[in-house]
Amino acid sequence: MTWDAVRVVKALAWEREEGYPNLQGQQCLFYEFLKEQMRLVPLDWLPKPAINQWQVLLAELHHYPQLTCDQREALIERIAALVPHVRTPGAPSPRVQETPPSPPTEISSIQELEILKPYYKTYLKNLGLKTLGEVLRYYPRSYVDYSQRLLIKDLEPGKTVTVIVTIRSFRCFTSPKNPQLTIAEWWVADRSGRMKINRYFMGKRYANKGWQEQQKKIYKTGTMVAISGLVKETKFSKTLNEPAIQIIDEESESAGKIIPVYTLRNDLKASSVRQAIHGVLPLVKSWPDPLPETLKKQHHLIDLGTAYQGIHAPRYGEELKRARTRLVFDELFYLQLSFLQRRQQNRRHASPILITEGQLLQKFRAQLPFALTGAQQRVVQEILQDLQQPQPMQRLVQGDVGSGKTVVAVMAMLAAIEAGYQSALMAPTEVLAEQHYQKLLHWLTPLHIPVELLTGSTKASQRRQILGQLSTGEVSLVVGTHALIQEDVNFQHLGLVVIDEQHRFGVGQRSLLQQKGMEPHVLTMTATPIPRTLALTIHGDLDVSQIDELPPGRQAIQTTIFPGSQRHFAYDLIRREIVQGRQVYIILPLIEESEKLEAKAAVAEYQKLQEMTFKGCRLGLLHGRQTATEKDAALRAFRDGETQILVSTTVVEVGVDVPNATVMMIENAERFGLAQLHQLRGRVGRGGHQSYCLLVTQGKGEDTQQRLNVLTQSQDGFLIAEMDLRLRGPGEILGTRQAGLPDLVLTSLIEDQEILEIARQGAEQLIQPDPELTNYPQLKTELSQRLARLTGQVVSLS
Ligand code: ADP
Ligand code: MG
Repeated sequence: MTWDAVRVVKALAWEREEGYPNLQGQQCLFYEFLKEQMRLVPLDWLPKPAINQWQVLLAELHHYPQLTCDQREALIERIAALVPHVRTPGAPSPRVQETPPSPPTEISSIQELEILKPYYKTYLKNLGLKTLGEVLRYYPRSYVDYSQRLLIKDLEPGKTVTVIVTIRSFRCFTSPKNPQLTIAEWWVADRSGRMKINRYFMGKRYANKGWQEQQKKIYKTGTMVAISGLVKETKFSKTLNEPAIQIIDEESESAGKIIPVYTLRNDLKASSVRQAIHGVLPLVKSWPDPLPETLKKQHHLIDLGTAYQGIHAPRYGEELKRARTRLVFDELFYLQLSFLQRRQQNRRHASPILITEGQLLQKFRAQLPFALTGAQQRVVQEILQDLQQPQPMQRLVQGDVGSGKTVVAVMAMLAAIEAGYQSALMAPTEVLAEQHYQKLLHWLTPLHIPVELLTGSTKASQRRQILGQLSTGEVSLVVGTHALIQEDVNFQHLGLVVIDEQHRFGVGQRSLLQQKGMEPHVLTMTATPIPRTLALTIHGDLDVSQIDELPPGRQAIQTTIFPGSQRHFAYDLIRREIVQGRQVYIILPLIEESEKLEAKAAVAEYQKLQEMTFKGCRLGLLHGRQTATEKDAALRAFRDGETQILVSTTVVEVGVDVPNATVMMIENAERFGLAQLHQLRGRVGRGGHQSYCLLVTQGKGEDTQQRLNVLTQSQDGFLIAEMDLRLRGPGEILGTRQAGLPDLVLTSLIEDQEILEIARQGAEQLIQPDPELTNYPQLKTELSQRLARLTGQVVSLS
C-alpha cells in the first residue's frame, strides 16, 4: 500500500460530513485507515516544521474512538490542514491552485479563517460564535489587572482587594445539619502564603450532586483564579468575604498585563478562550471602519480595528478606556441613526393638516376653573404647531405627576375635532380610561361634544352602537384602553390619537395604526419622567415636550418613613385627617408574580382595618381581581366621598385623581421602586390641603432607608427617576413589561451619558442633510446589519 492523498482527502471529507462517527469502511474503520495512511508517509516528505506535529497527530489518532465529537473535529481539522503539505516525490504537490483569498469581513465564517488554528475554531464554535464579527463582539466580562495584584501576605483586614492565586484544593458539600445550605471551600495559595475561601449557597438546588460535581470540574487543583473581596482575619487564616472568583489559568509571563476575563461555556478553559479570541485579532489591523473620518476626528474616537484590539488585549488602562469609548459610541450611534432615520421616514407619511380658528379651545379655557400654567401653554402651542404640519406628529409629553397633562391632551383633541376630525384617548387601564371619560364628559358636555367610552367590558350591544357611530363620524371623541386600536374599530377620519401613560403600553402603537391604514397624529404622555439617557435610548425617534411646572398652590407632600413597629403613628395621622373630612389611600404591598395572592391579601387587610383599626369609618376596596364594575364602583364611591379610606393594590398607581385625598400610606414601601412610589405619592396633594405620604417599611437595611430617603428629600420626579436608574438599573425603572429597551452590550446608561450626547449629535449631523445616508454607503450597510442583529428589538421601537 502507498500514501494516497486523494483517498485520504476523500475519507476526511466524508467523515466530516457525517459528523465524525468514525465511519466503517470496506476493510476497516475510518481512523484505522487514516492511521495506516499517515504511517506510510516518510518523514522527509514533510516540511521540517510539520514533522513533529504530524507525529503528535498520529499519536492522538490512536484515541480517536474515545474522543468526543468536538475533539474528533479538532483533530481531523488539524490533520486535514497538514495533508496538502505532504510532498510525494515525482508527483506535483496536491495543493489546489491558490486564488488570493478575499479579506475576511464581519460575516466571514470563522471556519474559513486561514489564520486561525483548527482547535481555536473548535473553541469559538463551542462558545456559540460563528462569524468573525461575533467573535470580535464577544467582549470580556471584566479584566484583571496584574499590575495591581497583591500578595496574600500583604493583605490587610478591612480592605477590598484582588489576589491572583492557584487552587490547592476544593470541596463542595451540603451541610449535614441544614439541607438548604451548601458550602464551597477553596484552599488557595500564591508564592507568599495560603488562605481559605468559602462561599455559601442557599437553596435545595445546590444540594444537587450534579451541580457540585460540575463545580469540582471547574475548580480543579492547579487552576489559576483571581479572587476579589473584603479581607477578613479568622482564627486560622486570612480570608475574603463574599468573594468573587474568576478563573484565569494564565501562565506566569502575563505578570504586569491586563488580562481580559471572558464568560466561559461548555467546559472551556479561560486561557483557551482567550487565545482563540486573540487569534483573530491580527485580522483587525486593517479592519474597515464605516465611521466617517471627520466624525472620528471631531469626537476623538479611535479606529474600529484599534478599538477591537484594545478591548480584547489592552496593554494599559488608557488604551482600554479609549477602546471602550469607541465601541460604546458605536452602540449608541447606530441606535440614534436608526431612530432619526425612522423619524424622517415617518415624516414622509401624510397626516391630515389640522388647522383651527381656536374658538372651541377658547370656550374650553373659559369654562376651566383655573388658568393654564406657563408650561401647559407652551406645550399646547408645540402640539398645535405639530398638528398643522402635513407629517404625523411624533411627540412625547413628559410631566411629573399632577403637572396637568390631561388638560393638555384635551386641548389637542379639541383642536383635532374643531378641524373636523376624530380623536381617541387611550389609557393603560380600565380604571384610568373610566376616569378620563368622566372628566371629559364633565368638560365637554357643555361644549356639545359627544364622548364615548370603549373598553373590554363595554356591553356588546352598546359596543356595536359605538362602533357604528365611530365609523360614521357621529362620535368625534372616544376614550378607551388600547383595545381601541387593536380591535375591529373603524373611524371615519381619525386625526389624533393620544396615548396616556405611554411607558405602560409597550411599543409599536404607530405601526399598528399604520397597519389599519391610518396616519393620525400621535401624542404620547408619560408621568414616569425618565432620565434623558433613557429617554433618548427608548424614545429617540420622538420629539419631547416637558411640562416642567406644577400648577400653583400645590404644597409639598410631607413624606415620612415609619418602621412597621410604629405603624400606629401613621394610623393616628390618618384618623386626624378623616375627622377633618379628608380621604386616605392605603396601598398594600406588591406581591410579585401573583395578582391572585395580592388580591387575597388585600381582602384580608381590608377586613382587618374595617373591623378593628378604623371601625366606624367607611372603607372601600380596590384590587386587580375585581370585575370592571366592582372597580368602577369602588373608585366612584371614593371619588364621591362615600368612602373615606380606599384600601388598594397598586391599580391606583397611574393617574387616579381625587383632590380631597390627602394621605397616601404605603405598606412595605421597600418593595417598590422610587419612581413608582413617587407616582403613588402623586395621587395626593391634588387639592389645596396639606398632604402626607406615609411609607411603612419592614426592611431594616440601611440601603432601604437610604433609598427611601430620596423621597423624603425630593419631590422632583426627574431627580427621583435618576436615582432609581442608578440604584436599580434601567430594566427596573421601566418595569418588566417594557419591551424595547435595546440590547446594549457595553453601554451603561448611567456612566455613558456623555458618549450618548455625542452619538446623538453625530447621528443628527449625518442624517439631517442625508436621511438615506447615500453619501455613506458603508455606514448604511453597517446600520442595516446592526438592525438585523437586534432583530425585533429596535425595529419595534416606534
Ligand atoms: P397628570 O399630569 O398627573 O395627568 P392631571 O392632568 O390629572 O395630572 O392633573 C392633576 C390635577 O390638577 C387635576 O385635578 C387637574 O384638573 C388639575 N390641574 C391641571 N392643570 C391645572 C392648572 N393649570 N391649575 C390648577 N389645577 C390644574
Ligand atoms: Mg394623567
